[in-house]
Amino acid sequence: MSKTSETFDFFVIGGGSGGVRAARIAASLGAKVGLCESADLGGTCVNIGCVPKKLMTYGAHFAAEWREASGYGWSVAPPSHDWATLIANKDKEIGRLNGVYKRLLEGRGVTIIRGHGFFVDPHTVDVTARDGSKTRVRSKTFLVATGGRPTRPTIPGAEHVLVSDDVFHLPSMPARVLVVGGGYIAVEFAGIFNGYGARVTQIHRGALFLRGFDRDVRTHLDAEMRKKGVDLRFHRELVSVARQADRSLLCTLDDGSTLEVDAVLAAIGRVPNTAELGLANAGVALDERGAVRVDDRFRTSAPTVYAVGDVIDRIQLTPVALAEGMIVAQNLFSNAKRHADYDNVPSAVFSDPPIGTVGLTEEEARAERGAVDVFKSTFTPMKQTMTGHDEKTFMKIVVERSTDRVLGVHMVGPDAGEIVQGFAVALKCGATKAQFDSTIGIHPTAAEELVTMRERCPEPDHALEVEHKEPPRERHIVHHRWEDGDG
Ligand code: FAD
Ligand code: NDP
Repeated sequence: MSKTSETFDFFVIGGGSGGVRAARIAASLGAKVGLCESADLGGTCVNIGCVPKKLMTYGAHFAAEWREASGYGWSVAPPSHDWATLIANKDKEIGRLNGVYKRLLEGRGVTIIRGHGFFVDPHTVDVTARDGSKTRVRSKTFLVATGGRPTRPTIPGAEHVLVSDDVFHLPSMPARVLVVGGGYIAVEFAGIFNGYGARVTQIHRGALFLRGFDRDVRTHLDAEMRKKGVDLRFHRELVSVARQADRSLLCTLDDGSTLEVDAVLAAIGRVPNTAELGLANAGVALDERGAVRVDDRFRTSAPTVYAVGDVIDRIQLTPVALAEGMIVAQNLFSNAKRHADYDNVPSAVFSDPPIGTVGLTEEEARAERGAVDVFKSTFTPMKQTMTGHDEKTFMKIVVERSTDRVLGVHMVGPDAGEIVQGFAVALKCGATKAQFDSTIGIHPTAAEELVTMRERCPEPDHALEVEHKEPPRERHIVHHRWEDGDG
């Protein structure tokens, strides 16, 4: 086993969204930077997350578009789909992006070491390559940006259950799919498989999926997914899976019912990658969920070690990891004293139809701010007026009554993510409803509805509100205070 050694100012473990951003910025500020990555550069987002998922979402929409085209006079022969072509072309694009990330890092002078990083002590990491060779790294500071991995179920037959990492390399399209879970990944893949023509059943343990999103958004998506043919079953859990002689999977649910499918995808959350990292050797403390504890500037309990992204389990989104990585690099190498701002983080769920959301839900706004005014609109998207489809778009604005400030903008419908990104800027600027109203719309668009909603919704029926009470979605934004780590 060979051993070489390298010395740096800043060494990053994990070449995903947060790690690559931090390494690049630190290097551009003059630091001597190294980075180790045990898999492909780009991390979850590029290889087995946002990017391949979004490409697969685009592909899944074509089937509906061909059907809709007939309303505009097109006649299209029944289309067929070749899954292998999709996966091959997706892999080619991901390979291109891996190269882009490598060039971005090397262009800034970052030393890339391929292999698994493991802390020996607070100043030393050993990186073990696939061939077993080791590089010993000494650095003044380290960044743990190792991300997370999917939670695997522990039921009988769990070995037959796929997680999101697996679906990007399925050799063929399963004809019947069971999706377990009610979060981002579950609704997105229910839509993807449904779009490619699979018969999809989605089960969720709660009364309604997407806990933590605005209730109207959740009920609207529920109705639209059912219209598109997804068999949604709430208050249901998967108890066991058995492989049958014909290779199909027999799934037993908690009500005793059974379901025969060709693939089961469990999307039941993710856990931080903190095992097999030697964090205890560096004195890095974890919280009760196994995430690295950090303060408001991403300092861990070890003075030489910082952590960002999914491994700190705050908000698991790529732009959040990027922002956190940038802050660490700037604080360390440009004398900045920045901390993260988690207010009004927008996000999109690339379900079918997609969700775009920023700010407080109506439920959060009522609980945190008291009196609010709510504006809602449900309408047929113009494109669908000639297709015969009864798809509806939903938009909602939540306004603080005492200040007229817009607290939340929520949408379900085509291009929701694209539309809500712009409104997120308005919320960051503290825009009022009067300012929304004085903005001229762009016609004809769906987005103009958000600046033309004038009619307040009647106050909700509080009896119903109580009936629907459920725990809010946890956002683990706890800033730990280190007694002697304030450096
Ligand atoms: P990662 O990107 O996970 O990077 C961590 C890297 O560390 C990995 O490459 C891993 O191989 C490496 N690593 C781990 N341990 C070691 C070690 N010991 N030594 C060396 N290397 C190591 N977010 C969005 O904003 N939009 C989306 O549309 C979206 N879609 C998603 C879809 C799916 C299916 C999934 C799973 C996630 C999605 N996300 C999305 C979330 C997003 O991918 C993550 O929030 C983001 O990638 C987190 O970045 P990170 O830098 O913390 O970790
Ligand atoms: P989420 O945390 O979003 O959702 C997990 C879901 O699984 C919830 O519905 C939860 O139910 C359910 N669940 C948890 N444990 C169990 C269990 N033991 N049995 C049955 N159901 C269970 O996780 P995901 O895996 O969907 O995604 C992880 C994160 O990745 C997301 O939170 C998001 O931050 C990020 N992501 C972002 C995307 C985007 O920006 N478009 C796309 C994909 C992922 P309950 O509500 O009852 O707790």
